[in-house]
Amino acid sequence: MVNEDLAICWFRKDLRLTDNPALCHASLHKAVLPIYILDTKNANSYMPGGASRWWLHRSLEALNESLEGHLSIYEGDPLEVLQDLCQRLSSKAVYWNRLYEPWAMARDAGIKSALQDNDIHVTTTNGSLLWEPRDIRKDDGTAYKVFTPFYRKGCLRLASPREPMKQPTFDELIRDDSNSRLDIHDLELLPKVAWSQKLDGHWDAGEENAAERLDAFLTVGLPQYKEGRNFPNKPAVSRLSPYMQMGILSPNQLWYGARKLGDDKNIDHFCSELGWREFAYNQLYHNPDLPIKNLQAKFDAFPWILKGEYLEAWQKGQTGIPFVDAGMRELWQTGFMHNRVRMVTGSFLVKNLRVHWHHGERWFWDTLIDADLASNSASWQWLAGCGADAAPYFRIFNPVLQGKNFDPDGDYIREFVPELANLPNRFLYCPWEAGKETLQSAGVTLGVSYPNPVIDLKDSRDRALAAFQSLKTSA
Ligand code: FAD
Repeated sequence: MVNEDLAICWFRKDLRLTDNPALCHASLHKAVLPIYILDTKNANSYMPGGASRWWLHRSLEALNESLEGHLSIYEGDPLEVLQDLCQRLSSKAVYWNRLYEPWAMARDAGIKSALQDNDIHVTTTNGSLLWEPRDIRKDDGTAYKVFTPFYRKGCLRLASPREPMKQPTFDELIRDDSNSRLDIHDLELLPKVAWSQKLDGHWDAGEENAAERLDAFLTVGLPQYKEGRNFPNKPAVSRLSPYMQMGILSPNQLWYGARKLGDDKNIDHFCSELGWREFAYNQLYHNPDLPIKNLQAKFDAFPWILKGEYLEAWQKGQTGIPFVDAGMRELWQTGFMHNRVRMVTGSFLVKNLRVHWHHGERWFWDTLIDADLASNSASWQWLAGCGADAAPYFRIFNPVLQGKNFDPDGDYIREFVPELANLPNRFLYCPWEAGKETLQSAGVTLGVSYPNPVIDLKDSRDRALAAFQSLKTSA
């Protein structure tokens, strides 16, 4: 017998009950089976990295709790799982919120048509972007390449984003009690104990914690956002990207959370940063090779340096450049890095060390709990100078000046590079300039307790500019 009243709601990167369009639609059926499938068939190199896997585990636990233990979990090929469920439970309706990663879009199109061939009704909705990427195009139908017209003309003039939806009520939530259902632990998402414990100390999953964080940001951070957002040690940014990445919060909740407070430069700036996230997705939608291929083909000939010890020093936060090391250690210890420091550490890797941006992108993919294919790829291309609306290659961040400007008291460096804590501020950003006595009285021995710089900042800057110049003359 066909069960017209049972809907399957497939959770993916939308692990929340509030403002979840797919779940709202599914809840109109008499019974809902909420499921999660870890896709081990199609994701290939885009399987979540180590930190994201930890965050996924914790987020699934929280979602299951919100669903009062009714989340059914599977692993493998989503098409097979869905076909099996529809057949066993005689369900004729499947709901999900769309994903925009090219590999997931291709997979979902195949799943949708295979299910429809079996007379199963599939409904897909937008639960993770403010505007559909396919709707935002220039008048001539091509994709925007520059952020400001993309946001102002493409997005803001199109239509206001959808207002957040309330959490639905259910007549009945059901769970698959067959042997095919797995326990969250069966997915083996948790990393080694020590890393897991570190991350546990910094982040609490679940919608309630996300909502608390959002409220705190709207009260404390937003009023100082425009200027404060550049300082890694100020509570001026939301640190909500991990929640957005897993869909524990939707961008609509952030947009309207801020917009309902009025209209000022801080609110506008915050909303425009949400616009950068949309821009990243738009670029990925129109350039499916964004994670692997330079948007500007001339960079294909760029003379990158293949030196493993540079990459390793950068990954470990042992470059001998304190502001860079503080950022890389923040990332390793907390699964997060402040945006300003992402720019400085990234620029140091691709410009001073001239290591290919792919290596930076992969390390961030593995260690960020907000690792997101669109934002990560677009940002690395932007930094390397080869992306859309990219930072010009000749703009090379000076990590000493960046530290002085944006960590003026040195608190951020002292937190993550404690072996330099006793240095006076004057030398905290550039310990190699300190005299013997200063170093000695701060308990610092360069090359022993803290590394000498792996590279000379001025020479490496000049060499990077020359490499870029060679590209221009050979083009
Ligand atoms: P807020 O300043 O509070 O901004 C609110 C939200 O807007 C963020 O949560 C995020 O969703 C969005 N946002 C803000 N700035 C950007 C931006 N520049 N690009 C895209 N979205 C933005 N962001 C990711 O979410 N995932 C990534 O994998 C990622 N990789 C990055 C790699 C590099 C090299 C760089 C330079 C940036 C990267 N970013 C990435 C963008 C940005 O650094 C983070 O989104 C931001 O630091 C998140 O902190 P927040 O939530 O406090 O941001």
